[in-house]
Amino acid sequence: MPPTTLADQPLPPAPARPNAKTKTVKDRPFECKTCFRKFNQKQTLKQHILTHTGQRPFECNICFKTFTQQGALQRHM
Ligand SMILES: [Zn+2]
Ligand SMILES: [Zn+2]
Repeated sequence: MPPTTLADQPLPPAPARPNAKTKTVKDRPFECKTCFRKFNQKQTLKQHILTHTGQRPFECNICFKTFTQQGALQRHM
């Protein structure tokens, strides 16, 4: 007859996670004045603000299509 040790053991208590959320707020000091989203880099915030203003500063010099982000322009090329 096999032993039934697993079924007889009580479940271990759930591990405590103290201060799990306090750090993320501190790491994102740049806040969008329009929608109050927070960003950890100034450049990321600046690119995000462009989505509110509708500006498209990155232009393809071949077909003159414009993009809000440099990464989108590079993918287009
Ligand atoms: Zn925003
Ligand atoms: Zn193009």
